[in-house]
Amino acid sequence: MYDIIVVGAGPAGISAGIYGVSRGKKVLVLEKGEVGGLIGKVSTVTHYAGIVPGETGDSFAARMREQAESAGVEIRQETVEQVQMQGDVKTVVTDQGQHTCKKLILANGTTGRKLGIPGEMELAGKGMGMNAAKHGANYAGKHVYVVGGADGAVKEALYLASLAEKVTIIHFEPQLGCIAEFRDKVKKTRNIQLMLNTRLHAVRGENQVEQLDLRSEVDGSITTVDDPGCGIFVYAGTVPNTQLYTELELQDGYIPVNDWMETSIPGVYAAGDIRVKQVRQVATAVADGATAAVHACIG
Ligand SMILES: Cc1cc2nc3c(=O)[nH]c(=O)nc-3n(C[C@H](O)[C@H](O)[C@H](O)COP(=O)(O)OP(=O)(O)OC[C@H]3O[C@@H](n4cnc5c(N)ncnc54)[C@H](O)[C@@H]3O)c2cc1C
Repeated sequence: MYDIIVVGAGPAGISAGIYGVSRGKKVLVLEKGEVGGLIGKVSTVTHYAGIVPGETGDSFAARMREQAESAGVEIRQETVEQVQMQGDVKTVVTDQGQHTCKKLILANGTTGRKLGIPGEMELAGKGMGMNAAKHGANYAGKHVYVVGGADGAVKEALYLASLAEKVTIIHFEPQLGCIAEFRDKVKKTRNIQLMLNTRLHAVRGENQVEQLDLRSEVDGSITTVDDPGCGIFVYAGTVPNTQLYTELELQDGYIPVNDWMETSIPGVYAAGDIRVKQVRQVATAVADGATAAVHACIG
C-alpha cells in the first residue's frame, strides 16, 4: 500500500510527489500520458519563476520528470479509470490494475475544449486541432489559424508567427482576452492578423483542411474561406477532468477544496487546475501540489 497516490503528473502532481517523498512517504504518481501535463505540450513556458531563457514545454517537462524521479517518486504510465475514496484505505483502479493508498491527491487537471463544430472530428490531426509545439514546424511558410484569444492561445499564435507565413487569430469577442504583454507583442508582429467578433463555424476537406466557415458574432453572417492545406490550432479554453469523481460534489465541474486542498472526503485532496480557483498557472499548480502533499503527510 502507498502512503499517497497522486493522479496526474502535471506541475501539481509532480510537485505533490516531490513534497511527499521529501517527508519520507511512499508516493506513486499515475499518469496516462506524458509527465508534464498541459504545460509540457506548449511551445514556450512563460512567467513561472526560475525558467531558463527559451524554456519550452518539452524542456520544462523533462526537468520536472528528472527532479521527481531522482527524488524517489515512483511514476507509472497508467490511466486512472475508477477511484474509491471513502474510508481509511482508498483504491485506485487503472487500465493496468489497482493500487491502494492512505491519502489520495487528485491532480489530473483539464483537457482542451473541443469546438463541437462540423468537420472538427473528421479533420482532427489533418490540419484541424493541431498542437503548435509539435506541428508548428510543418506549417513553415504556410497560413495558420489560432482559435482563441486568452493567454495560452495568443502565446501559441506568437510562436507560430515565427514559423508560418501568416497567422490569423479567430476570437469571438471584440478584443483579445490576453495579458497586455502578449497584446503588445501581437501589435508588433507583422504577420498576425486578428479576426475578432468571429467564430469558427465549420471546417471542410478530405485529407487536409480545404475550407473554413466563419460566423460573425455581430450579424450572424457566414463567410466561407478557401484555404487548402492551412493549419488550425484550437486553444479555446479547457474543461476539468472530473468525470471520474462521482463521489465529490463539484462546482461548475471543478473540485472545491479548503486552504489545505482537502476535499469534502477525508484523506482526499485536489490540486492544480482541477480545483476551484481563480488563477490557473504553473505557479499556482505547484503551490497546490506542495500544500496538499504536506498536509497529507501530517494529517
Ligand atoms: C496553451 C496553454 C499555454 C499555457 N502556458 C502557460 C505558461 O506559459 N505559464 C504558466 O504558468 N501556465 C501556462 N498554462 C497553464 C498551465 O499549463 C496549467 O496551469 C498547468 O499545466 C496546470 O497543471 P496541473 O498539474 O494542475 O494540470 P495538467 O497540467 O493539466 O496535468 C494533469 C495531468 O493529469 C493527467 N491525467 C488526466 N486524466 C488522467 C487519468 N484519468 N489518469 C491518469 N492521468 C490523468 C494528464 O495527462 C496530465 O498530464 C498554459 C495553458 C495552456 C492551455
